[in-house]
Amino acid sequence: MAQFWRPGSARPRASLIDDEEGGVLFLSSPAPSSSSGFGYSSLERQRQRLPVFKYRDAILYLVENHATTIIVGETGSGKTTQIPQYLKEAGWAEGGRVIACTQPRRLAVQSVASRVAEEMGVKIGEEVGYTIRFEDQTNPGVTMIKFLTDGVLIREMMDDPLLTKYSVIMVDEAHERSISTDMLLGLLKKIQRRRPELRLIISSATIEAKSMSNFFQNRKKVLEHFAMDSVPNQLPAIVSVEGKGYTVDIYYVEEPVSDYLQTTVDTVLLINEKESPGDILVFLTGQDDIDAAVKLLTDATHDDKKRSSGLLILPLFSGLSRVDQDLVFAPTPRGKRKVVISTNIAETSLTLEGVVYVVDSGFSKQRFYNPVSDIESLVVAPISKASARQRAGRAGRVRPGKCFRLYTEDYFLKEMAADGIPEMQRSNLVSCVIQLKALGIDNILGFDWLASPPPEAMVRALEVLYSLSIVDDDVKLTSPIGYQIAEVPMDPMVSKMVLSACDLGCSEEMTTIAASLSVQSIWVSGRGAQKASDEVKLRFAAAEGDHITFLNVYKGFINSGKSSQWCYKNYVNYHAMKKVVDVKEQLCRLLRRFGLALKSCEQDTQILRKAIIAGFFANSCYMEEYSHNGLYKTIRSSQEVYIHPSSVLFRVNPKWVVYHSLVSTDKHYMRNVIAIDPSWLIEAAPHFYQTRSPNLALY
Ligand code: ADP
Ligand code: MG
Repeated sequence: MAQFWRPGSARPRASLIDDEEGGVLFLSSPAPSSSSGFGYSSLERQRQRLPVFKYRDAILYLVENHATTIIVGETGSGKTTQIPQYLKEAGWAEGGRVIACTQPRRLAVQSVASRVAEEMGVKIGEEVGYTIRFEDQTNPGVTMIKFLTDGVLIREMMDDPLLTKYSVIMVDEAHERSISTDMLLGLLKKIQRRRPELRLIISSATIEAKSMSNFFQNRKKVLEHFAMDSVPNQLPAIVSVEGKGYTVDIYYVEEPVSDYLQTTVDTVLLINEKESPGDILVFLTGQDDIDAAVKLLTDATHDDKKRSSGLLILPLFSGLSRVDQDLVFAPTPRGKRKVVISTNIAETSLTLEGVVYVVDSGFSKQRFYNPVSDIESLVVAPISKASARQRAGRAGRVRPGKCFRLYTEDYFLKEMAADGIPEMQRSNLVSCVIQLKALGIDNILGFDWLASPPPEAMVRALEVLYSLSIVDDDVKLTSPIGYQIAEVPMDPMVSKMVLSACDLGCSEEMTTIAASLSVQSIWVSGRGAQKASDEVKLRFAAAEGDHITFLNVYKGFINSGKSSQWCYKNYVNYHAMKKVVDVKEQLCRLLRRFGLALKSCEQDTQILRKAIIAGFFANSCYMEEYSHNGLYKTIRSSQEVYIHPSSVLFRVNPKWVVYHSLVSTDKHYMRNVIAIDPSWLIEAAPHFYQTRSPNLALY
């Protein structure tokens, strides 16, 4: 039987209301804060001033006595950075056990881990570590608190199905309802039945605590041979941490705005001109419009020195380099006003001190999937009321603040949806299905979901997996290919492309291509000189398309001795290229572990493109005969799509192409495109195309 050290059980001083019927413990009033803070370092004092500190004893008491504890508290109250430390202080990391804290976003994992390491005065990667895809900063045997993405924790189950090294798992930001969070919650509920001593903490800014509590109420009897006193109460406890947010005044535009980027810039300048000191946090949608806004604002600082004086303009999005991340979190220099232009990562996952003004565009980039057309794309879409409230709340951290919404009050009241849709219900489920299958869960519709995925999406996913030979006629993972693909931490279509390249003898090149597809972009954007950068890009451009172009850039980078100077001259993103080198190395290591040989095809681009098609045949498109504006249609569903301006094939418009992903704004744009010969499609996926493409018969 599992031996487990039990932390000392001091009863909290707060009064607990025991609601036996619902099985919910509700903390009604916080315990008085102990210790005057005298003699503590300033970081320690900062820790004690956080709202969650008053609940420290109560949280530890509940975690000790309940299998699951649900913690709801405003952003910035200290959930993410403090609770793992409290658990460690109480002994939950003793005896080689580890406390895990998951986040939906990679940047948040890195950022909170380094903050906690700093507070504990340790080096990151030792007592406090983190793991994200392709980057492991932990030291087994030493690391006590580990931050990781929910996706990485799911992958860890493939080696250790019961996650035995963890004593407590905190699933943070549960309100985001990312696809991995939803999968993880269902999987952890299963693990809890086999490991009753495992403690779960579900924490979030806004979750519907009662329904989460119902989900975790384990009515099934836990294994009988566990001694009663080692089994915690199976009824979940709920703690609600009262924050100390200041009031935020909301301002709406009077008329709908047509250009939210320009309005954003005007609003920032207006705040700078009229309002008292305090940093500004702007919510836009993604790297492209953030770069554009940074450029517009930077231009404004040259044109209108008066209105823009003292502005320090900083972008914030995932994929930002560590140096740029640090700038965002560094205290604002005296006499300056920080303007952080962010994706919705700053909505709840990260706390920026000193923000007094929020500018909310009302949009974010969201994944949407249409099972009928089988098109998944990133769409710039309106946020929900819940998000809008969270965004506004960021202005009330240090003192009363103001939020400027770039939409009308009427729109907010009458048209904005109350809540967002869980990602599970608007995603392509291919990755999700293959991972659950690899974990031995065969009846996926019967899985214990927090919210069921749409059956049509599930059917589509199985169809794609079948056509990729990842599942067989009995819908079981194929061996070895299905199992291998499940193990590669990439999109199954990319993994299939890499494994096919091993068969076709071009794995050396394909690992570079796959690694390049795994970074946001290998190009630098937003440095102003669009024309110059386009010209330089032409030097690397391959007639076949973006994938082959990646090979040229990679070669140049390696030949330069991985020089940052070389990158700067060629408008190539140095950090992205270092990441590409690193990811490629890890992929190669994985292939060698599968016993697969790395071979070069010596630039035989036909072989390479056939291997790409082996993974991506479902993303094929053709240009309509008389189309002059680059209009393509997907073969699967005749959706209208266009080549993205960042592609080397933009305006080249080959007749037949395969794309890697779609980005949607006013239209669907294909990112990373390669020219193909249609006969290769039928060769790669005969069943897939025979059944559904009258168009192909014409060629
Ligand atoms: P929650 O998870 O409840 O939203 P956090 O634990 O992330 O709150 O943050 C608690 C507090 O820690 C913040 O309000 C802020 O004062 C401080 N903090 C967190 N991250 C950083 C950082 N990177 N730099 C400086 N302070 C930080
Ligand atoms: Mg948090």
